[in-house]
Amino acid sequence: MIVKRGIAVSHGVAIGPALVLGTESFQIPSRFVRVNAVESEIVRFRCALENVCREISTNEQLASQQIGEKYGAIFGAHLQLARDPKLIGEVESLIRTRHYSPEFAASQVLRRYAKELQNLGNHYFAERAADLFDLERSMLRHLLGEQREEVANLAEDVVVLAHDLTPSETATLDRKHVRGFVTEVGGSTSHTAILAGAFEIPAVVGVGHFLADVSGGDIVIIDGNHGEIVIAPDDETLERYRDSAERSRSLAQRLLSRGSRISKTKDRVRIEVFGNIEFPEEAEHCLERGADGIGLYRTEFLYLTTFSQRSEDDHYRAYRQVVETMGDRPVVIRTLDLGADKIPGAAVRAYKQRGNPELGLRSIRLSLDNLSLFKTQLRAVLRAATTGDVRVMFPMISSLMELRQAKMILRDVTEDLEDEGVDYRGDLPVGIMVEVPAVAMMAEEFAREVDFFSIGTNDLIQYTLAADRSDPAVAKYYNAADPAILRIVRRIVQAAVQADLPVTVCGQMSSDPKFVPLLVGMGLRQLSTTPLAIPEVKEVVRSLTIPQAEEILGRALEFELARDVEVFLRGELKKICPDLVE
Ligand code: PEP
Ligand code: MG
Repeated sequence: MIVKRGIAVSHGVAIGPALVLGTESFQIPSRFVRVNAVESEIVRFRCALENVCREISTNEQLASQQIGEKYGAIFGAHLQLARDPKLIGEVESLIRTRHYSPEFAASQVLRRYAKELQNLGNHYFAERAADLFDLERSMLRHLLGEQREEVANLAEDVVVLAHDLTPSETATLDRKHVRGFVTEVGGSTSHTAILAGAFEIPAVVGVGHFLADVSGGDIVIIDGNHGEIVIAPDDETLERYRDSAERSRSLAQRLLSRGSRISKTKDRVRIEVFGNIEFPEEAEHCLERGADGIGLYRTEFLYLTTFSQRSEDDHYRAYRQVVETMGDRPVVIRTLDLGADKIPGAAVRAYKQRGNPELGLRSIRLSLDNLSLFKTQLRAVLRAATTGDVRVMFPMISSLMELRQAKMILRDVTEDLEDEGVDYRGDLPVGIMVEVPAVAMMAEEFAREVDFFSIGTNDLIQYTLAADRSDPAVAKYYNAADPAILRIVRRIVQAAVQADLPVTVCGQMSSDPKFVPLLVGMGLRQLSTTPLAIPEVKEVVRSLTIPQAEEILGRALEFELARDVEVFLRGELKKICPDLVE
């Protein structure tokens, strides 16, 4: 049994067999195949093997003719390995009995032998191990061709373990069968973490190197409450976690049954709780949990499941689905926040080459740099707005000039639609994400030019504390409880309240129940959280009074260290809602 620690990013406990995504030069596609596909997968394996052998023979001949037989013999040894009946038998048996894909089975068998040879500690054997890795690479190349990772069609429930999951990979995971995931890298509000919330599965990120300790099929426990993973647990540990998973399930069930009640504090002040979504289907989940609307629709996720451009109609259909689901409840559609760690699959390489992507051409900057992309989206938003309470929001605004440009483009698009005689709604409320410290400092000026603020604490924290939200190496510097964050959020809320401007917090901070009294104490009367957190946040609201929340805020502001703020807030939550604190 091996226990590892990482950053808990999505609550709950998941237990299941491991599906290890490869980290080497090839990404191994689905580790499992459907039972009825076993025979055809074996045929695929044999064909690939035949091609590998043919390629090695050609190389053998070429080398023999051109540089001498001695060199050709090197390939002869490879050929012997590739034709070894024991190796082939083991691979085929894994495909047949465990329903491993040929790629996974071949990789498992070849790596096991390679590791055994390496462990013999002798130079000669180490070289033979290198031959096996070589053979693995050619096998995978022939099996995969140009194919990309395919984790969209799994045959059984698994927990996914990977070095990293790009948002596009995460978005294409087969949601029916993925019970949780763990990555070696990633930070607490990376977009992969946000997607775990969208999938409503437990997740731990930033664990550091651990993939060498686990084989596909090993039982793994993911504790998304405490940021722990247990590989090959003993029976007692397994039992303990099963109990804890059961307790979390029944608490969630209890809260869900009270979810539809209106969230008012004990002294009857209404606090609206909205949901954050990435995919249109999630709107339904928000409704089931009693959401008062959609406070943040991260539209860029429309791009992350595909490599291709999206048309105006693609946008329109997605938005319509959300608007129709929500009826007359408000839906805040945020324009594309592409860039940084939210990059469409096809563009990953181009973006990764840029240094400092979080400070680069991302979000509204990218939209203003690519007007046809921006206008296509805005047209769809205005068209979808005809039937519901749609509001449009610009992300990562950093200056008034930028806001005015974005609003000007919105006006241009409105005029175009008018000229074309297309059905649209032009008087939508326009808001901004307040997530760059410069905007917090200029909040009074911004308040005069927009209809609402939505505080994006995920980015606001990273830009205020200079700590990359996706990098586990600086996770300890990234903390919503930092006194500087409390002050900057309070400053924005005060500016909004003075200007009589609606303001909400849509960053992860508002999904964490311990921050809810503090935020209400600041004057927030709207919060936007992950769908899963809606019932918990409503429960905290219903257990509070406004004077109590204000007192909690006052006392929290007296601390100088994030650690002390956290301990204090957890203690207060325990008094208010003991069930929510383990
Ligand atoms: C935020 O930054 O807090 C936010 C809600 O936006 P995102 O996480 O999509 O950057
Ligand atoms: Mg943001």
